[in-house]
Amino acid sequence: MFATLSDRLADTFKNLRGKGRLSEADIDATAREIRIALLEADVALPVVKEFVAAVKERARGEEVSQALNPAQQIVKIVNEELVNILGGETRRLRFAKTGPTVIMLAGLQGAGKTTLAAKLALWLKEQGRTPMLVAADLQRPNAVQQLQVNGDRVGVPVFAPEPGNGVGDPVSVARASVEEAKRKLHDVVIIDTAGRLGVDAELMKQAADIRDAVRPDEVLFVVDAMIGQDAVTTAQMFLDGVGYDGVVLTKLDGDARGGAALSIASITGKPVMFASAGEKMTDFDLFHPDRMAGRILDMGDMLTLIEQAEKAFDEEESRKAAEKLATTGDFTLDDFLTQMQQIRKLGSMSKIMGMLPGMGQFREQLDNFDEREIDRIQAIIQSMTPAERANPKLIDGSRRARIAKGSGRQVSDVNQLVDRFFEARKMMQSMMRGGGVPGMPGMPG
Ligand code: GDP
Repeated sequence: MFATLSDRLADTFKNLRGKGRLSEADIDATAREIRIALLEADVALPVVKEFVAAVKERARGEEVSQALNPAQQIVKIVNEELVNILGGETRRLRFAKTGPTVIMLAGLQGAGKTTLAAKLALWLKEQGRTPMLVAADLQRPNAVQQLQVNGDRVGVPVFAPEPGNGVGDPVSVARASVEEAKRKLHDVVIIDTAGRLGVDAELMKQAADIRDAVRPDEVLFVVDAMIGQDAVTTAQMFLDGVGYDGVVLTKLDGDARGGAALSIASITGKPVMFASAGEKMTDFDLFHPDRMAGRILDMGDMLTLIEQAEKAFDEEESRKAAEKLATTGDFTLDDFLTQMQQIRKLGSMSKIMGMLPGMGQFREQLDNFDEREIDRIQAIIQSMTPAERANPKLIDGSRRARIAKGSGRQVSDVNQLVDRFFEARKMMQSMMRGGGVPGMPGMPG
């Protein structure tokens, strides 16, 4: 996401490096380049204009002329303006003070609403809430069933009209669902409403009727970021037709340019609250304007990485492994495997590395990183006996041949892994002794 924009802005800033003062011409040239970069990223024209004007004005002002390093000041200004157009502060969900919190989803068919409903439910569940999903999309054949499948995937119950009762009326279903949630003590109700392929009056009316019947705490407009400028147009129409409190961007993984993400908050005046970037149920999170801006400027997104690490890492496992290492100095192939699986839970290597600062220049290598490398290592370790994993010194030539055969790899792959393991172990052990350098030993390189 935002790859071209990041590269373009990086080039722009590079041209400023080493300059002690910025002339009027420097500022104009920079503004022009930023303008092109944003337009190429498919950002809506009014947003581009406003952005460039703000950067220009601030660049001319005191801020830069008195700065020691004008290039850094420009980066700072662009960063702040990016946070600004992305919506400013992170907007969190509002929960009802009493009774279930009602969240209603609206958007076009194919926007990713049904998938999003389940992702949101899982996200809430992980925070200790007890959500219920509601199938109020009675238009599209299979919509109810699809929500049920997704609900099963995340272990969240789905409220739907009884089959055989005719098509049913989405407004009554929505109303009944809130009563059901009260009875069954669900604290959040997520209502999936019908979408159409295009905006139409009937769709808007139905959504508005549901809204009036259940008075949601949050109405979220779900939109496919891949449709670029159309997302902005649709957002505006839904704002006029139904109204909503926040925007959810889906399919950000497929949106290389990022135009919708960069325009929608400015144009609609409604914050982007969540972003969904992938087919997996866990590819979903709150949208943080400041972190997103940091990513665009390749300042890294350490906060998200740390949060994801905290979520994915099994604290108990890590504690046990560290304790074992500290007391016995022992680190086995089983520990090695566990460590790798924990890193794996964070997501793909390229995604993890992409969140580190300054990794923009390695984008090509990251994109080409072969994720299967980790599967291969796993397969090799899993072809070893428990005794071999506990005591890798046992692994002699004939065992290596057997392991290679068992995992479908070459003996040289097994050799390489065993060598790498011993290296990692040496490093871990010297770390424990020296009390030092944190690192990720054993990462395939
Ligand atoms: P709905 O019609 O709005 O309910 O949309 P669906 O939830 O059925 O999603 C439409 C398609 O988009 C499905 O094939 C989903 O798997 C896919 N999809 C949903 N969210 C994402 C996402 O964040 N990334 C990607 N790549 N695909 C997604």
